[in-house]
Amino acid sequence: MSTQRFKSVLLFGAPGAGKGTQGKILGKIPGFFHLACGDVFRSLDLSSELGKKFLEYSSRGELVPDDLTIEMWRQNMQAQTVLSLYKPAVDLLILDGIPRSVAQARALEKYLDVLEVIHLVCPDRDEMVRRMRKRALKENRLDDADEKVIRRRFEVYDRETAPVLACYERSIISDVDAMGSPAEVLQHVLEVVVPVQNQHFRNPLG
Ligand code: AMP
Repeated sequence: MSTQRFKSVLLFGAPGAGKGTQGKILGKIPGFFHLACGDVFRSLDLSSELGKKFLEYSSRGELVPDDLTIEMWRQNMQAQTVLSLYKPAVDLLILDGIPRSVAQARALEKYLDVLEVIHLVCPDRDEMVRRMRKRALKENRLDDADEKVIRRRFEVYDRETAPVLACYERSIISDVDAMGSPAEVLQHVLEVVVPVQNQHFRNPLG
């Protein structure tokens, strides 16, 4: 992959905080490219070796091992770039669900120029569980339908993912209240990402 690091914003937060909802909306706006690591995993052929690994770990609410995850992410980014779906010179990359461990954050340093981390803060775990259950039914996400797996996902978040925040300068971390409606949360997310985009890219339509 090119040695130029991708200018990116990380959507960060616990399962059910709304990273995917916000990322999908941002991804529809010219000049933003959204990539959700979980979506890439779910798009795999589940009978392939990597697909089987994904099922094995995700069905327990655990993280896929770091080396497999980073390699899959790298190959996917390369494909998106070759196909010009993602254009690093004009698009701000919005990453959702990666990095999810300190080792992943370190491994991504050579690929990413992280301009901002949006930390979606949702202190109400019951609300997040409610969102995950709703989504499980709508999107056929078996891992989010089972109470035990959901609980495990929170444990893994607290133990392995929350420490990732400390890998970034406090000055580039924005806490955004994730408890409101998707539109309210979006308003706050845009307040953070639009200035970042303006500072680093020319108007994509200009
Ligand atoms: P998500 O859709 O982001 O909730 O991810 C669903 C599942 O995919 C997770 O529970 C993990 O098993 C796996 N996964 C997604 N992103 C990562 C990552 N960055 N590292 C390891 N596993 C991941």
